[in-house]
Amino acid sequence: MLPADRYRRVEGPEITACEFCDTRALPHLEFVSIDNDAGGGGEDIPAGLIETREERDGAIAYRARDPLSGTTKLITVRKPQICSECVAQIAAQVGLGERQPLLAEIDELRQDRDELREQLETSERQRQEAEAALRGTAVYERMLVGGDPNGTEAASAGGGKSGPKRG
Ligand SMILES: [Zn+2]
Repeated sequence: MLPADRYRRVEGPEITACEFCDTRALPHLEFVSIDNDAGGGGEDIPAGLIETREERDGAIAYRARDPLSGTTKLITVRKPQICSECVAQIAAQVGLGERQPLLAEIDELRQDRDELREQLETSERQRQEAEAALRGTAVYERMLVGGDPNGTEAASAGGGKSGPKRG
């Protein structure tokens, strides 16, 4: 799918005609433009010559330098537009006409999400409890052994700069 902002509602004078059925603006029809140009200048406008790029709902307007004359000219590249009736027909072909099964699925996924969130919270609580218990055990062990737990090892490492302090 293209990024969401590449699909735009087109209104008023920006409406041209449906790419598929060639219908022009009618009161009961909505039009959507599709920008599949990957954000570039298109084949006929080399990127290096583009000075400004203005994104409109139904078209992209470029101000580009003409390499021969050196002057700047305005080039409008129309985006393909599709009418709402064609969109509805296409949607029906891929099963989007019926919303009920989709809504049921959304409900189910929401329930799954809530359950997973609860499980995650429980796991996190248990992890924190286990960590606290482990810390308690470590303190207790140190108390049993006594003294500096790093002292003997550091000394046998051989007089490094982090050697044990002597009193
Ligand atoms: Zn159409």
